[in-house]
Amino acid sequence: MGRKFFVGGNWKCNGTTEEVKKIVSTLNDGQVPSQDVVEVVISPPFVFLPLVKSILRPDFHVAAQNCWVKKGGAFTGEVSAEMLVNLDIPWVILGHSERRLILGESNEFVADKVAYALSQGLKVIACVGETLEQRESGSTVDVVAAQTKAIAEKVSNWANVVLAYEPVWAIGTGKVATPAQAQEVHFELRKWLQANVSPDVAATTRIIYGGSVNAANSKELAAKPDVDGFLVGGASLKPEFIDIIKSAE
Ligand code: PGA
Repeated sequence: MGRKFFVGGNWKCNGTTEEVKKIVSTLNDGQVPSQDVVEVVISPPFVFLPLVKSILRPDFHVAAQNCWVKKGGAFTGEVSAEMLVNLDIPWVILGHSERRLILGESNEFVADKVAYALSQGLKVIACVGETLEQRESGSTVDVVAAQTKAIAEKVSNWANVVLAYEPVWAIGTGKVATPAQAQEVHFELRKWLQANVSPDVAATTRIIYGGSVNAANSKELAAKPDVDGFLVGGASLKPEFIDIIKSAE
């Protein structure tokens, strides 16, 4: 089906200049499969994007962790999609659960951001995922379908979208979804895309898993047919990120 494995490293709000240089140097020395096999995207905080871009190996790319919902201007504290394009930053993560839950970003707001970023030529890692309460009440598929539907209503071309399934209860908790749990939701998301967008979009869109991925669990998760890669938080700051990238093979 030709869905190239995708591994994103989400550094979140971490790092000093010295730490950033050290992590990049470890990444640059790592032996990983070729770009034909795996697409690797590193997402440092905004302020470190130019530095990381300038010292990172050329086969890895960079992503911002957010951008503004429309054209820049009088929006204090925001960074616009235009600025990312101007700096040649190809990717942006949008709709991360930390932004949805802590900063109150709604499905519609996230969808507007995704549509605007795509319209400016950015590629988007769009995150969806349920809370523990939602999982326990049996509404996981409804929640991720509603989050995806909001995006689908505003986006017609999915070629530059990677969908990240990140169950909130698994993020930063050390409590990883089992490969079966991840596969089940990825399968449902693909089925949703097939029924509501198109069979082609369902077959070609990468659906990646995020939530306590590490070198010890990545291989087994990657073996699942609908798991097309990972969005890695904590472990992307460590040398084991290289081993996670290797699970593409
Ligand atoms: P984690 O974070 O790997 O630290 O659980 C994943 C994410 O939030 O993208």
